[in-house]
Amino acid sequence: MFGKILIANRGEIACRVIRTARRLGIRTVAVYSEADAAALHVAQADEAYPIGPAPARESYLSIPRLIAAAQRSGAEAVHPGYGFLSENAGFAEACAGAGIVFVGPPPSAIRAMGSKAAAKALMERAGVPLVPGYHGEAQDERHLAQAARHVGYPVLIKASAGGGGKGMRVVETPDKFAASLASAKREAASAFGDDRVLIEKYLTRPHHIEMQIFADRHGNAIHLFERDCSIQRRHQKVVEEAPAPGMSDERRHAMGEAAVAAACAVGYVGAGTVEFIAEGHAFYFMEMNTRLQVEHPVTEAITGLDLVDWQLRVAAGEKLPLRQEDVAARGHAVEVRLYAEDPARDFLPVTGRLRRLRMPDAASGLRIDTGVREGDTVSVHYDPMIAKVIAWGEDRGTALRRLAAGLARYRIAGLTTNRDFLLRVLRQPDFVAGAFDTGFIERHRAELLPVPAPAPRLALAAASLALLLEQAGAGSGDPHSPWHRRDFWRLNGASWRDLQWAEGEAPRLVRAYWRGPRYRLEIEGEASDAAAEITPAGDLAIDLDGRRAELTVLRQGDEVTVVGDDGSWRLLYIDPVAPRAAEAAAGGRLSAPMPGKVAQVLAAAGAKVKRGQALMVLEAMKMEHTIAAPADGTVERVNYAPGDLVEEGAELIGFAVEG
Ligand code: ADP
Ligand code: ADP
Ligand code: MG
Repeated sequence: MFGKILIANRGEIACRVIRTARRLGIRTVAVYSEADAAALHVAQADEAYPIGPAPARESYLSIPRLIAAAQRSGAEAVHPGYGFLSENAGFAEACAGAGIVFVGPPPSAIRAMGSKAAAKALMERAGVPLVPGYHGEAQDERHLAQAARHVGYPVLIKASAGGGGKGMRVVETPDKFAASLASAKREAASAFGDDRVLIEKYLTRPHHIEMQIFADRHGNAIHLFERDCSIQRRHQKVVEEAPAPGMSDERRHAMGEAAVAAACAVGYVGAGTVEFIAEGHAFYFMEMNTRLQVEHPVTEAITGLDLVDWQLRVAAGEKLPLRQEDVAARGHAVEVRLYAEDPARDFLPVTGRLRRLRMPDAASGLRIDTGVREGDTVSVHYDPMIAKVIAWGEDRGTALRRLAAGLARYRIAGLTTNRDFLLRVLRQPDFVAGAFDTGFIERHRAELLPVPAPAPRLALAAASLALLLEQAGAGSGDPHSPWHRRDFWRLNGASWRDLQWAEGEAPRLVRAYWRGPRYRLEIEGEASDAAAEITPAGDLAIDLDGRRAELTVLRQGDEVTVVGDDGSWRLLYIDPVAPRAAEAAAGGRLSAPMPGKVAQVLAAAGAKVKRGQALMVLEAMKMEHTIAAPADGTVERVNYAPGDLVEEGAELIGFAVEG
């Protein structure tokens, strides 16, 4: 076994590899970009080396820098994690060239599976079933359109070099083919530097079922059962589980054999995943991912195995620890990917600081794989995943309940996440019954992405009491801030105080009366008895008419975020003394929160606009950021046009607050 390994990755997967290496007594070497100097994976490793600036191209994707770090550290092996260079044959070769073991398959196997089209041709010869389609060399529109007609609509255009759901277009009718082809090719060229595509019959109610396989250098190859990853948005996985609901032993056996045959056909070594699309009784090969998969923990949970441990053993030349007949599964496991993203805005990634990050405790029985800590920033440079949360149970129902209960205990504030969305998925009756396919999220959009309900009384009470407690305990910060006014109960000699909140456009009013240690709160006219205190962890423990809850309340300026078990709400405090102070301060100029490209300009110079109205849309990586009016007012200047590149902090729009 190795004495020291380097992890050529970051975030949760780097931390996850470090955990197993530690257990095996292997020293670990982390690498980090300038953005990651204080990251968790760096803190956890025994040694760490800087590898360049934040953009991945100049750091985590720089083969020379990674090899140099490996050589300097004296690491005997490199674990690539997933993403980045994990499926890059050139990197595997560079490692070998430097006398370092690449923890993964041989470069030839990576290459063979790197192109979906070439892989399908290979699988066809190995007798693995394929989705009807075209994966030939011809790439002109006429030929491809003809292939699509032959396959029969609807069809799916896929980038041969694709991954992460990019470069894919569903085409319903022949008249849309040309436009979809052009846009798929554009996206493929920009994402993968290769615009070749293939055509597949588009299955309308399929399951994504994949087999975990493992092979060693001694001719052994086995599978470790399947995972169902059908809950997807934009063809990307959000919920994964093992075993697949409704999977029969015969089918498991057949898919396992097909997956092992696929691996053997390319001389595979190490951990790999063969992805199938299944509909009815049929299943078809889609692609093989020649690395550890994001969702491998569900397989670990049901088999009790450590796949990173196996990867390291195989890379060190050992035999697979088990034979096929010795691998057993128990119970059911489900994983959700907790992302910094906004489900309401087409799941666009979100950036920002994790001002609060509280995870469910050990008693929840969950496995949490994460690479971030409270205070960390989710940046534009990398994947916006916050954590993978995994639950195991004797049966599926138990696993789902455990996962939902644990997820409800997560407290994240400072940026938008998909937590509430994931909770709705986990509790959706069809999903709970196991009746779903890859169209699940689309089909249940209205239910899973409801129009946000107004903040409940509990949230309004929490925001108000947090404010009152902060004011009562004020002693630090700006003494002129309305948040730090000790004497408000005496203000105007009143025995009550009106707290005016705005939720979006809607005013929400709370009147608070101080009653000894408790409060009487009139929330929109209806009275409640309440008490609250700050917990040692900094949360708000509240008692509202006898109902107790612990909520996270985070204030950023006049904006207050309340996070509870069932949701998160944003309220704006309207200060009665200086009602326009915050707005006036925000006026004058609206600047770019990060470097990016102007996607849309929605208001012209001279336009009178309302507070919150979208003025410009900025695109940074694959994210869109709306620049909105901070108050009612007038647009004085628009400094950029669609397509313009802007630096961080650049003035986008000159703005005058009304009055
Ligand atoms: P899967 O998500 O099942 O592992 P995919 O082929 O769909 O397989 O996704 C490609 C992988 O690359 C994913 O694991 C994804 O999270 C990862 N990935 C994509 N972009 C990045 C990035 N910028 N940094 C790290 N990992 C990334
Ligand atoms: P990627 O490399 O982006 O992971 P895949 O070929 O694995 O690309 O496809 C991603 C997802 O798209 C699958 O998990 C599946 O949900 C969907 N998909 C792929 N092929 C088809 C198809 N022929 N019909 C319907 N859905 C498909
Ligand atoms: Mg895939």
